[in-house]
Amino acid sequence: MKKKHTGAIVFFTVLAGLIAVAIAYFSVMFYVKTGSFIPPVLSDMSGLTGFGIADVKVSDEADSSAAHISGDISDVKTSDEAEKANITKKPTKKPTQKPKKSGKKKPTTTPVPSKPEDVNDISTHDMKQYLGEMPGEDSDIVSTATSVYTYEQMVKDLYFLDQRYPGIFTYETLGVTKDLRQIYAVTLGNPAAPNHVVIQYTVHSREYINCLLAMKQIEYYLKNYAAGETYGDRSYPDLFANFCLHVIPMANPDGVSVSELGIDSMRTASAKGIIQYCWESDTQLGRTAAPIEDYLKTFKANANGVDLNKNFPVGWDGYTDGVPVPSTDCHKGVAPASEVETQAIINLVHANPTVAVISYHSAGDLIYWNYGVEDENLLAADRNLAINLNNVTGYPTAVSEKYNWHLAGGCSDYFMWEEGIPSVTLETGQGTCPLDISAFSSMWNANRDVYALLAAMYG
Ligand SMILES: [Zn+2]
Repeated sequence: MKKKHTGAIVFFTVLAGLIAVAIAYFSVMFYVKTGSFIPPVLSDMSGLTGFGIADVKVSDEADSSAAHISGDISDVKTSDEAEKANITKKPTKKPTQKPKKSGKKKPTTTPVPSKPEDVNDISTHDMKQYLGEMPGEDSDIVSTATSVYTYEQMVKDLYFLDQRYPGIFTYETLGVTKDLRQIYAVTLGNPAAPNHVVIQYTVHSREYINCLLAMKQIEYYLKNYAAGETYGDRSYPDLFANFCLHVIPMANPDGVSVSELGIDSMRTASAKGIIQYCWESDTQLGRTAAPIEDYLKTFKANANGVDLNKNFPVGWDGYTDGVPVPSTDCHKGVAPASEVETQAIINLVHANPTVAVISYHSAGDLIYWNYGVEDENLLAADRNLAINLNNVTGYPTAVSEKYNWHLAGGCSDYFMWEEGIPSVTLETGQGTCPLDISAFSSMWNANRDVYALLAAMYG
């Protein structure tokens, strides 16, 4: 019995030993395979134990996945916003690369200063280093060698005129255009005088020969004023002692630059893009078949593709037959007086006791007046202005009818109808724009005494 008993103990001990070895072996093998000591069955069991909670979680996930769907929608918005943000913040995207932590200090990149505005911003730069030599005393400052009278040339000439005739006139800027040019205004005469007249030129780009005319008229005035010359029986200083004239020689400097020099004259990518768009759109609309170089030579609008003489707040809403998108002409803009050039003219008139507004355009050798107003006093004042200008220029007068769909938004229409200020439009020269310099001499002969005439009338 004892022997049997001992045999049984040995048997179970050996069996237990074998089982232990077997368990140890399979455990090690399992770990090697799965990296876990917990057998899959037990693992599944743990999943089952939390079934109820897991169920709740699933339904939570369903909610959150529902939320995710709406989240996707808002994600779309967000990614749109991100895109927009990328568009506006593109330059800042690059630095998101983590800076390498090397011991060496990277040289900080200082922004390269863009080419100084030099000739384009008289107030902030010493002009002399950019201008070159001033024309000699025997020569006029404003050259009539070419009708392509650029913005840069105008700014130079204003500076030189101020050097040659110090204290006789002043000039200021009325605003900055989309393509970062200044809208200059020149003041002649006495700013304290009760009667002021505003004259603006080149609202239409391709009529840039009129900027040359304006600058020659200004120089002519300065020359005569300095020399004490007379107009009629009065000296220039006497004529202008009680009268003030405001001249905007280049009301649309961006557009003039496009028409004179092409798309590469645009300083900003956005302006360049709009000018390019104008050509592509006008081509698609069948409004032009010309290559872009030729198309831009006859460009009329500003750098937003807005026809400024459709942008004044007169009949603006009713003008629906124009071009709804940026174009060389007939696009009225997004709102009345939306354009800085339009605002500059209106603000200058408002800032002064303005008794008349004159707009220079080309071509036709013609004076438009009337504009269909019914106020007899206003009509009489406008007729008087037109007849006097006719006497000096020799240009016939023509009655411009009340604004309608194709005349809405015009400068003279606006000041006549909305402000009750006598206004006329002078159409200078003969031929198609842009006019060649050969058209200039007759323009000059007709218009050189216009400033003196206005002083004689209103001074
Ligand atoms: Zn015009």
